[in-house]
Amino acid sequence: GNVKGASSHSHIRVVVRVRPPNDAESAANGKTVVRVLDEHVLIFDPLEDGSDDFYQGRRRRGRDLNKRKNRDVRFAFDQVFDVDTQNVEVYEKTTKLILDGLLDGYNCAVFAYGATGAGKTYTMLGNYNTPGVMFLTVMDLYHRMENIKAEKTCDVAVSYLEVYNEQIADLLVPKGFLPIREDPQAGVVVPGLSLHKPKTAEELLQMLNFGNKNRTQHPTDANAESSRSHAVFQVFVRQHDRTANISTNVRIAKMSLIDLAGSERGSVTTNKGTRFREGANINKSLLALGNCINALAEGKSKGFIPYRNSKLTRLLKDSLGGNCHTIMIAAVSKYAKIVDELRKEVCELKSKVKT
Ligand code: ADP
Ligand code: MG
Repeated sequence: GNVKGASSHSHIRVVVRVRPPNDAESAANGKTVVRVLDEHVLIFDPLEDGSDDFYQGRRRRGRDLNKRKNRDVRFAFDQVFDVDTQNVEVYEKTTKLILDGLLDGYNCAVFAYGATGAGKTYTMLGNYNTPGVMFLTVMDLYHRMENIKAEKTCDVAVSYLEVYNEQIADLLVPKGFLPIREDPQAGVVVPGLSLHKPKTAEELLQMLNFGNKNRTQHPTDANAESSRSHAVFQVFVRQHDRTANISTNVRIAKMSLIDLAGSERGSVTTNKGTRFREGANINKSLLALGNCINALAEGKSKGFIPYRNSKLTRLLKDSLGGNCHTIMIAAVSKYAKIVDELRKEVCELKSKVKT
């Protein structure tokens, strides 16, 4: 009844992952700003843990009606992951679901969205013991390719770049800024971007960590580890039937796995000089992405989608809309500092894609 946004556009899924509190947060015993009701519903600003108790609800009704108005707001998502969820489960209930589309030749994109510290990098990159979605995707693809290699010749290659300050840089072979081109056959390409074929899981892990270390990170007053770059890991798959003519029946598709820059507003940083330009540019790419997704969710796939407004959306032009599958993983902290901002953020994201 009072759950908002119960369904979403078929090609765009939105899930939420709630990160567990760290030691400092646990010790501070802060206010819980989100609570997972079940695997589809998230409650913002819950009145108190367990407050959906029917009798308690009735007792409160008259007295606390006004106080309640903006609290205990429920939103439905395609999936909600609570604090004890492991990366493997997040992978299996998000990216793994669209791998078939990739193998059928459709580009797809998975985004980790959220404020700095909310768990984006943990989800996408992970760490040595708990590798994230990027690693798990490639390993799964290798597996699937192995299974179909009797019928098909398959080729998988990966690249890792960052969009920082509206400039594209290779994270695996750093060498200055790279352009974006649109090719009638190949779609969006980044000439000069290095492609890699890691042979083992170990090699892939090292590559991902090396790339992540090359990301541009600047300490800011608000957040010592604020990440202002968008990291884009792309997996290219080329397949053709073993029996078919080489020039026919070739399928090429790519999956883009994106660790977005922190979604916090520029106002929390020192808005001077370079920092200000960074902030402005991040807003530009995130804003442009939001606008594109908004336009796509409204069913405008044949109309005008403002891809050209930022580097990130130009880069992903052929991976959003049409038959492409898109997944937004919103990372949130149970003890986020500002509940209103968090709610606004996630609700905006959700309302963009609800039908
Ligand atoms: P972001 O990339 O969004 O800025 P991180 O992924 O770096 O945030 O997460 C911030 C901190 O919280 C890191 O120390 C990370 O290891 C930890 N963390 C995030 N998500 C989880 C999780 N699901 N389980 C355990 N630790 C997590
Ligand atoms: Mg990060």
